[in-house]
Amino acid sequence: MPIAVSLSPGVPEEARVLGVPVFAGRQLPASSVAELNVDYLAERGFEGKVGETCALPADDGSTIVALGLGKPDAVDAETLRRAAAAFVRAAWQDQRAALALMAGTTSGLDRVAAGQAIAEGALMASYRFTRYKGDPKPCRIETLAVVGKGVQLQRGIDRGVEIAGAVALARDLVNEPAGVMTPRRLEAIATEVAERAGLQLTVMDEVAIENENLGGLAGVAKGSAEPPRLLQLTYDPPQAKGTLALVGKGITFDSGGLSIKTADGMATMKTDMSGAAAVIAAMSVLPTFAPKVKVIGIVPTTENMPSGTAIKPGDVLKIRNGKTVEVLNTDAEGRLVLADGLSLAVEAGVDAIVDVATLTGACVVALGPKIAGLMGNDDAWIEQVEAAAARAGEGVWRLPLPGDYRKDIDSEVADIKNTGGRSGGALTAGLFLKEFVGDRPWAHLDIAGPARSEADEGYTSRGGTGVGVRTLIEVVSRFRKPAKAARGARE
Ligand code: MN
Ligand code: MN
Repeated sequence: MPIAVSLSPGVPEEARVLGVPVFAGRQLPASSVAELNVDYLAERGFEGKVGETCALPADDGSTIVALGLGKPDAVDAETLRRAAAAFVRAAWQDQRAALALMAGTTSGLDRVAAGQAIAEGALMASYRFTRYKGDPKPCRIETLAVVGKGVQLQRGIDRGVEIAGAVALARDLVNEPAGVMTPRRLEAIATEVAERAGLQLTVMDEVAIENENLGGLAGVAKGSAEPPRLLQLTYDPPQAKGTLALVGKGITFDSGGLSIKTADGMATMKTDMSGAAAVIAAMSVLPTFAPKVKVIGIVPTTENMPSGTAIKPGDVLKIRNGKTVEVLNTDAEGRLVLADGLSLAVEAGVDAIVDVATLTGACVVALGPKIAGLMGNDDAWIEQVEAAAARAGEGVWRLPLPGDYRKDIDSEVADIKNTGGRSGGALTAGLFLKEFVGDRPWAHLDIAGPARSEADEGYTSRGGTGVGVRTLIEVVSRFRKPAKAARGARE
């Protein structure tokens, strides 16, 4: 059960554990809800760094947890997210918890953003995928009272609860084994989401995918016994001010195909549908937030398997937009299915596109496991996505799409090839995708690094992280229609 988060003007009587903020240098806020023994904190080595915790027994048998917030003038939404997460990890076993993070700490912060961050941090940290565990040790916190008052704070908490729920959905989808989370299972999930949230859903099955000339998706699916799907979820509010497409890579298992991966290389490849999970999860909360923008979520989904019917290196596929691709490495399959998805987005006449994909190992080498690569063809649009990620607290870093590197994907026999060699692999993958977005403002998030975490840490849990969900929701929530055609990006 997710924790019930509520707003409470004071610390509730029944709270067994109370989190209170402490700044760097063990400095207490001007108005603290509890007396803290600063000397005790010093003895325990507690300094007040962001995410640090120190439990102090209180006289009545309850526990106070000092929560480090760092420097008072540097407290932002991400600080609150991390402090709330640290609190939940410290209070894991206590059923009734209270959190006084707002007391004297956030004078300069937007109160909606603050409430949202606290709820997000607490709930995301409490997530654990337990379905297959005999002794799952789930978080036992049942109620969490956020000490504070006001409509803005309440609005923020409500928003944070919804967003954390979407992140949990994405994590669930990623954490399910690939033998369960097949393209058809993803279709069933999208169907449930559409019904519950009130979204339109259209599905192309393997026959429609062939008939509609989605040659990239059909090609990648050829080696698998599981049929592919093209899922399209639509949120269409009245008086929409523009249309946005979210495209998510949905490879439910990536063996590499005939260009087969090593055993180690494919151990975590159920994660290769994290982009699809992010898109479905973000779409699921749009009707609740009711942004005035039409959003089309496009999910090409298939397995990538080797077999007698699989595509072979050297085969040529024709993508939906008519371009031909020579497939020289069947393990560079994500871009093939995304090419069809992006082509459909362009046909739908959208004003802007964001795609999310666990696309390249090269991006992980470049940016490590916590930062997504951000590329695109339109500076203003890329900056909107970058700002959304910053508000959401998801790490992204801009990478260029150098025109000079375009020749690396020139093909001997087709319009382009699907590999650009090892060096600059994240960029040549981006340049490949760019071939399918026409003149639409487009941003590409390569989440191959941050899609998975090896540890329970902060508000991240081991396994699928649900990265991208919060950024996509932020992008939609503050969407400003870019100029009609893409205006170029710095290279
Ligand atoms: Mn691959
Ligand atoms: Mn892949």
